Amino acid sequence: MQKIANYIDGSLQEPTSNNYLENINPAIGKVYSLCPDSDETDVELAYQAAKAAFPEWSNMSANNRSKILLKLADLIEQNIDKLAIAESIDQGKPVWLAKLGEIPRAVENIHFFATAIEHFASESHSMGSHAINYTLRTPIGVVGCISPWNLPLYLFTWKIAPALAAGNCVVAKPSEVTPMTAYLFSELCIEAGLPKGVLNIVHGLGGKVGSAIVAHPGISVISFTGGTKTGAEIARVAAPMFKKLSLELGGKNPNIIFADCNFDKAVAESVRSSFSNQGEICLCGSRIFIEKPIYEKFKAAFIEKSKAMKVGNPLLDDTKIGAIASQLHFDKVLGYIDLAKEEGGTILLGGHPVKLDGENADGYFIAPTIIEGLAYNCRTNLEEIFGPVVTLTPFETQEEVLEMANATQYGLAATVWTENLNTAHHMAAQIKSGIVWINCWLLRDLRTPFGGMKQSGVGREGGWEALRFFTEQKNVCIKF
Ligand code: NDP
Repeated sequence: MQKIANYIDGSLQEPTSNNYLENINPAIGKVYSLCPDSDETDVELAYQAAKAAFPEWSNMSANNRSKILLKLADLIEQNIDKLAIAESIDQGKPVWLAKLGEIPRAVENIHFFATAIEHFASESHSMGSHAINYTLRTPIGVVGCISPWNLPLYLFTWKIAPALAAGNCVVAKPSEVTPMTAYLFSELCIEAGLPKGVLNIVHGLGGKVGSAIVAHPGISVISFTGGTKTGAEIARVAAPMFKKLSLELGGKNPNIIFADCNFDKAVAESVRSSFSNQGEICLCGSRIFIEKPIYEKFKAAFIEKSKAMKVGNPLLDDTKIGAIASQLHFDKVLGYIDLAKEEGGTILLGGHPVKLDGENADGYFIAPTIIEGLAYNCRTNLEEIFGPVVTLTPFETQEEVLEMANATQYGLAATVWTENLNTAHHMAAQIKSGIVWINCWLLRDLRTPFGGMKQSGVGREGGWEALRFFTEQKNVCIKF
């Protein structure tokens, strides 16, 4: 059975304990590889390697760092097919989605920050004829990056690319649920000539490896993407150590459909924003609010389109919904469907696991699920489910829908469908979320600030924000 290795000090290494975790292919429900069950000893080795690599990497010209990172981006691009298949097997997503979306985005992430660093500059503040201030922005040192299982390589590279481009060295932990593409990525780092110790990838459990990174006294910056509860735990440990934190957390995003919308587009994109990647995208719109005059019409069209989505083997091109990433998560999503029923919801579509034939018979598949008749403030409508489950709720006025949309503890993203400019501006201003999409979904420009309000996060990633986060500022004041 294939054994995944840690990537420490430029080489592929076994965990010091020699213990491994079973890595399961969620579409067949069976172990297919072994993931290092690393611990704080491996994190310490990774830290020491990163610390030793820091002086040379941080002193290298931005142009030379950029060249190495661009080579890495090229190598990912040359290996898109291999990485997409690996991601699909490891995570359960349809392979075409990994090939069209996730892996190309990993290329873009690295390309974007490798080129951005060559244009990154800092400010100066003149005090007329008697003094000038200038701000130095320098790499910080060894930083920790922790990422989740839903978009494994995409979110992993989204963090490490700005950290490395800015001149830091990294100790990173991908999710133990989906370690494969980070492992394949480490092989590409070696091939690209990334100097040893600059990036170290330690595989294993959050409670062991993740917490050792967060608690390490030498790692003063933590960039984390994952659940809100884990984010709170990380903040609890990191705050008394005065670590710099970026937290990208959960979401429960509203998707608001006004009667004057472009109906066909709103329906088609709502299907995508509800069920892409099995609904396991933090930006999916899981609460659909529909203006009363078109409620029944929208409901019928939405159900019809969703019904046509094939749940199947992720490796087949006609599969629209693949497997849920793990047994644990599969049980959690089904538990929420039971809760919705208990809370008085009516299941309009799905609401059950899907049993496939052949080698997929034990896979973790759930039918796209549409529920109506729930109060906007019941648990099903307030808590993050993170699966192929959405609720439909009618509304009459802008004030009413704003109250419902803003009712959760989350504030990551929102989508609004309307052809009325005033409505669009009013909603964009009043919705409490870090991102508002008008008449589109998941349209991303990597220069824009990305992150959540309320309990969806702290800080923003993307563009200059990320490069600022991964650098330290120092003001120098010179009197003439
Ligand atoms: P988790 O919070 O469970 O885990 C995220 C990462 O943190 C994993 O690598 C995990 O390790 C690790 N971890 C777990 N416990 C600790 C700890 N105590 N200290 C340090 N690290 C720890 O999230 P999921 O992996 O379940 O991902 C789903 C969540 O991520 C959803 O809530 C989703 O909304 C959110 N998310 C947010 C995004 C955003 O941009 N805002 C984007 C994508 C997802 P391991 O799993 O290996 O044990």
